[in-house]
Amino acid sequence: MTIDLHAHSTASDGTTPPASLPQLAAEAGLTVLALTDHDTFAGLAAASAASAEVEIVPGVEISCRLDDADEVHLLGLFVDPLFAPLAAELELIRTDRVRRGVRMVQRCRELGAPITLAQVEAIAAGAPLGRPHIAAALAAVGITDAFTSDWIADGGRADVPKHVLSTVDAIALVRAAGGVAVLAHPRSVKRRAAVSDTQLAALASAGLSGIEADHPEQPLQVRDRLREVAADLGLLATGSSDFHGDRKPVRLGEHTTSPEVFAALRESAVSVS
Ligand SMILES: [Zn+2]
Ligand SMILES: [Zn+2]
Repeated sequence: MTIDLHAHSTASDGTTPPASLPQLAAEAGLTVLALTDHDTFAGLAAASAASAEVEIVPGVEISCRLDDADEVHLLGLFVDPLFAPLAAELELIRTDRVRRGVRMVQRCRELGAPITLAQVEAIAAGAPLGRPHIAAALAAVGITDAFTSDWIADGGRADVPKHVLSTVDAIALVRAAGGVAVLAHPRSVKRRAAVSDTQLAALASAGLSGIEADHPEQPLQVRDRLREVAADLGLLATGSSDFHGDRKPVRLGEHTTSPEVFAALRESAVSVS
């Protein structure tokens, strides 16, 4: 068995259509592939329908908050995509940028800035609405201190907080959906802050089942250290490619999860559903 538990399709920021993933996975010698698009199950049906030899594990990669640190990513594996509370939460996460942008424009108007949503949307030119677009609209009406507490800086008068789940709540939601929770790339070199041993211990107590040790963005020593931490905390250590198609120079199956760890994850998932 060759198992890769983290991959993206065009349903999020991958470049491979979900229906093409099973074939690619088979060519890469995989027998199991988890489809874990960001905050969505949209690719799952197509991937599952196209899979002949390769088992597709239903998964999702949820963006969440851990203390005050950088955003972290939680993999929910073996989750039921039809579990309504999880589906509703993912919908909220996906639509938050737009909702947040609309509310911030409203606040700016209430505070006397004569900007409109249409102007901000024109500036965004089809990109998801963000604070830089609002700042540009404010600048156009002579307000050049947009990124201060007077306007849209974090906690500013016109700022609207992001909708984001705490990692502990995300773990609970994944468990409630019949799945197991695995913390993705906890010490990726691309993240501003590494998840500490203490934080991992707290997440283990909150129902986390595993951590991704083997990942392209974690150097060898980091992987070894994460395996040790996992063993100390009674967590499973997984490995995966985090495949994104042509967007990242990583091939499917570049890192894999052992059949023993995979069996333990599956068992852990079954025990809650
Ligand atoms: Zn990630
Ligand atoms: Zn990912």
